[in-house]
Amino acid sequence: MSQDFITKANTVLADTYKRFPLAIVKGKGTKLWDTDGKEYTDFVAGIAVCNLGHACPEVAKALCNQAGLLFHVSNLYYTLPQVELAEWLAGHSFADRVFFCNSGAEANEAALKLARKYFHVKGETDRFRVIAMNQSFHGRTFGSLSATGQQKIREGYDPVLVGFDFVEFNDIEAVRRQLNSSVCAVMLEPIQGEGGIRCPEPGYLPSIRDLCDRTGTLLIFDEVQTGIGRTGKLFAYEHFGVVPDIMTLAKALGNGLPIGAMLAKEDVMSAFTPGSHASTFGGTPVITAAALEVMQYMEREKIVEHGRAMGEYFKEKLLGLKDRYGIVEDIRGMGLLLGMKLKISGAPIVSACMEKGFLINCIQENILRFVPPLIVSKNDIDALIDCLDKIFKDM
Ligand SMILES: *Cc1c(COP(=O)(O)O)cnc(C)c1O
Repeated sequence: MSQDFITKANTVLADTYKRFPLAIVKGKGTKLWDTDGKEYTDFVAGIAVCNLGHACPEVAKALCNQAGLLFHVSNLYYTLPQVELAEWLAGHSFADRVFFCNSGAEANEAALKLARKYFHVKGETDRFRVIAMNQSFHGRTFGSLSATGQQKIREGYDPVLVGFDFVEFNDIEAVRRQLNSSVCAVMLEPIQGEGGIRCPEPGYLPSIRDLCDRTGTLLIFDEVQTGIGRTGKLFAYEHFGVVPDIMTLAKALGNGLPIGAMLAKEDVMSAFTPGSHASTFGGTPVITAAALEVMQYMEREKIVEHGRAMGEYFKEKLLGLKDRYGIVEDIRGMGLLLGMKLKISGAPIVSACMEKGFLINCIQENILRFVPPLIVSKNDIDALIDCLDKIFKDM
């Protein structure tokens, strides 16, 4: 890409991202093209967002049809696609009701507000503390940041909200010790995403559910990254035989369009009444019409099942690399939320892959994260594995 463009970009944009010197102009399925016409196979999918791949024609059509009909009128009125999407989500999950917003952080804000409000309306106004996890990631707004257990992300923003206690993920005793009558909710990602693709140990989530049940504490699952088929089931909680009280969604819900959702059962969501919470754009027609098509397309084309099969195939191949190369420490994750922990820094591997036409991503310095579109093919996976094989061999 031209140095002029990079210089201009770095002058006019807030310097909040460490970007690769790559400007992407076009996509189709699992492929992307940059300004020089170079092709890439995408194993990032906009950070676990574009499950149906890029420029999905059916979603584009739903988006355009709705755009020709009605963009936005606010939540002073009912609109049809918002209700249909809520009905779809409730019909495919434990939840009865849905609050729509525009991002993962906002969905988590709504969840935290609902948890506090739930006890407030019961008269338990001292019950406002939240137990969250070390290494968690819930977003960048003050509430979601307050629940995020990573110092580097909170750096410079103190004081954050009061009332958050952090425990080690997978340590059930720590939750037991921290749970008391001032705790309104335990909040966690069923599989930690940004924190390093860390899976729950068998029995951990059921034990948390049990502790919450016995103390009347709400259980919030942040499925912003794990939801919408990413882990091989529509929602990750389905793997573990555990149902949360509140669940948040965002990333893949709109296949790239900005939308978040907070879902809950009737008795919990009833703590929200008119005026409790709101969003100007939340559930706006153009976005919900597209997201509804994303959900219906996934169901029609059995995308979750395909993603699950590809995830198993991919994991096998990654384990094969681990067998051959000592620099690979371990392979982790479920479905198409996969990670490869290295004994070396991941950044040079990401660059080498990019050079060879593959986009992958690295988290926590040394964990390569693979979150391709769920429509990824065996050919795509084989090609990436070949590429990694060559890179590791040449090192
Ligand atoms: C990405 C992410 C968020 C934040 O979502 P935004 O849309 O960036 O606000 C929250 N929780 C989890 C688990 C995430 O992966």
